[in-house]
Amino acid sequence: MSSARVVYYNWIFDVGTGPALKHRYRIPRAPEVSNQLIRSVRRAVSTLTPREREFVYRYYYNGEANRKIAIEMGLTVGRIDRLHRRILKRLKIVLADFVRKEYGLDVAIGDDCPICQSPHCDEINRLIQAKPPEVTWRGVLKTLCNEYGLKITSPQVLIGHEKYHMNKEGEHGRR
Ligand SMILES: [Zn+2]
Repeated sequence: MSSARVVYYNWIFDVGTGPALKHRYRIPRAPEVSNQLIRSVRRAVSTLTPREREFVYRYYYNGEANRKIAIEMGLTVGRIDRLHRRILKRLKIVLADFVRKEYGLDVAIGDDCPICQSPHCDEINRLIQAKPPEVTWRGVLKTLCNEYGLKITSPQVLIGHEKYHMNKEGEHGRR
């Protein structure tokens, strides 16, 4: 398998399905990389800003480590992580149509998710990550309301966000 193929393979699966969906659908392990797939990914990447594109080429195409990219681009690791999340969100939106047609998968984009829409999304994600699994969502809901003015009545919103919209740490293997 060529390195380009591995890149595209990981790419479309990360971008198109998200970690949670990988287990829900039976996806062929080594799909043919069609010219159309390559074109779609190229087109999607071309909609990014120059800085975002630089990150994509370094991280996904060259396999450079997060920390190395951060240092060389003059950004903190925290800012690189935020840049990465923004890139994936953008690519998800641009590639959603293609992924739906090609793989029959519906992409959860989070356009109507109040947490994704919040300017405090990063802080809220940390809050969600910090919650032990055995603890209910009540405390988080309360904090969202009191600290961020986000009135969410159903924990399902949080559960859905955690499952489909959050880019889990270490999911891409290289950090
Ligand atoms: Zn969300």
